[in-house]
Amino acid sequence: MKPALFWSALLVLMLGLSYQPAGEEQHPPGPGRVLVVVPLGDPSPKLVENVAGSLKKRFNFQVLVNDGVPLPRSAWYLPRKRWRAEKLLDFLDTLELGENVWRVAGITEEPISTTKGKRYDWGIAGLATIGGRNSVFSSWLFKRWKAKHHQRYLRAMDNLVLHEVGHNLGLDHCPLKRCIMADAKGSARKAAMQSSNEFCPRCTEKLRVHLKDKKIRGKWSEKELAILRKTGWLPESD
Ligand SMILES: [Zn+2]
Ligand SMILES: [Zn+2]
Repeated sequence: MKPALFWSALLVLMLGLSYQPAGEEQHPPGPGRVLVVVPLGDPSPKLVENVAGSLKKRFNFQVLVNDGVPLPRSAWYLPRKRWRAEKLLDFLDTLELGENVWRVAGITEEPISTTKGKRYDWGIAGLATIGGRNSVFSSWLFKRWKAKHHQRYLRAMDNLVLHEVGHNLGLDHCPLKRCIMADAKGSARKAAMQSSNEFCPRCTEKLRVHLKDKKIRGKWSEKELAILRKTGWLPESD
């Protein structure tokens, strides 16, 4: 083999071996992966701190907080005076957040919405795609709890943040109402009230590589475990 041909063959081989999907295998699980929290439209620093705290407590990747960014006019939906969440997800892609960024979580106190079935503009608490890079969530739907029921407010935000980032980490909705990954079914407040703020055995298993505490947390009833078994998420003899 001629030297030039040899080197180009070697180069092709090396390129082939080093090819990896962006953001996944290039960062090994754990602190090599960075999630950046982006405050959108000036949310309270206390809320941002709580959101970052929820993620740090639960997950083993690095959580950093970026400088605040104004909400983009491109996401403004004038007829309902709120912000389109799917446009905010796109907007997060346009920000310069550094090379090491693996996941991005946008947090705002402003109302957000997206299309849900036949409703073009439906108010939501958060949005994220399964396995996607970006998530966005808003405290707007829980703000009535902020003053009088502050613990409930913080709990709802904790549940919301873990739910949306859970989607980005590959989780779909869970059949258990008390699991963080339960489908809110159009009512964010009701879902927050029903949640145990824990991942069920099925979701813990799916998330294990990202979790600090890899044990199943919370108490899950026989009835709930039976639901997981029926849908094939738990082995029969577990
Ligand atoms: Zn969801
Ligand atoms: Zn679950």
